[in-house]
Amino acid sequence: MSEPQEQRSSLCDEGVLLIDLDAIGRNYDILCGKVGAVGRCAAVVKADAYGLGVRRVAPVLWKRGCRHFFVATLAEGVVLRQQLGPEAEIVVLTGVRPGTEQACLDAGVVPTIFTTAQLRAWADTLEKSGQQAHCALKIDTGMTRLGMGADEYDQLLTDRSLLEAAGVDLLMSHLACADEPAHPQNRLQLEAFREAAGRLRSLLPSVRLSLANSSGIFLDETYHFDLARPGSALYGINPVPGTPNPMAPVVTLELPVIQVRQVLRDCHVGYGATQTAAAGSWLAVARGGYADGVLRAQGGRGCAWACGRRLPMIGRVSMDSATYDISRLAPGEREALDHIQLLNTELTVDEVAEYAGTIGYEILTSLGRRYQRQYLETCD
Ligand SMILES: *Cc1c(COP(=O)(O)O)cnc(C)c1O
Repeated sequence: MSEPQEQRSSLCDEGVLLIDLDAIGRNYDILCGKVGAVGRCAAVVKADAYGLGVRRVAPVLWKRGCRHFFVATLAEGVVLRQQLGPEAEIVVLTGVRPGTEQACLDAGVVPTIFTTAQLRAWADTLEKSGQQAHCALKIDTGMTRLGMGADEYDQLLTDRSLLEAAGVDLLMSHLACADEPAHPQNRLQLEAFREAAGRLRSLLPSVRLSLANSSGIFLDETYHFDLARPGSALYGINPVPGTPNPMAPVVTLELPVIQVRQVLRDCHVGYGATQTAAAGSWLAVARGGYADGVLRAQGGRGCAWACGRRLPMIGRVSMDSATYDISRLAPGEREALDHIQLLNTELTVDEVAEYAGTIGYEILTSLGRRYQRQYLETCD
């Protein structure tokens, strides 16, 4: 459809966030290849597809054959159901709050359940409504976040009729350290999950198993089970930190340059006067500050990209702008500079996360509301 070049020329006032839907599709294919089949790879599209826009992202994944989707909340599930129609499996990761069981049922979403009390309430709702539906049971295998503890799970396994009445058909757990392949906790969680799964399957032989997030897929195939649940890797974040990224980059962020000037003597730059530009430096101020997700934590460390080069950020990030030292550009390049990039195929989400002392997930989900979002998608 539209080329990035054309889209660039439409850049006027606001920053432009260019999202490559084809790259998301290719990333889904790569992950399906790793797990061995399309049906075995779900897609996590919580938080508006990690900030990239579930309305545009979900249909792309659907076209590639994805039929299992994970969202964070019931509200996200309702929106996705309207979008994808009745066939998609939509699992809500953060559970079912008391009183919302019927709403889950009406939306046709699968709640993830962590407690016996939730399981009872879900079974009661199914019984009262006379409807058949499923739920996912999540157990804790070592992350100690969401999930049923071992004692409660032992107890639950003595109540086969409850498991059946609640329609448990997916057993899940979540890895805490999958992005550190050598971390001993991975093996421990795998063993705990296998053991717990074996016991559940002796009661419910058809229950499906799901453990791996993006990084979990890259540990090895023993982590894959029936359904992998990648999110970040779909959106271009490196699932194997410290080694070359197997995923295609997805986002380009372009910000308008709103002032360029040379400082004639040494000058402190920005709030707090934390950094100094040397006499003769050329500075560019670009629109886009911490209110837009240009994280303030990268002040003095971050960089931008223009004319094939990294340009250091100088001074603190302001709410609506940040300043960059563009002295290393040639005079002609400085004069023509009307935008800079903060994310692209060279300056990756993972690199920017490093500057801000965070992870790529937070960079993506912080991307501002003021940007003009443009989507790159070839017709097929
Ligand atoms: C967010 C989430 C995922 C996806 O994780 P990525 O690291 O983004 O691939 C998978 N499972 C659960 C339970 C999650 O909360």
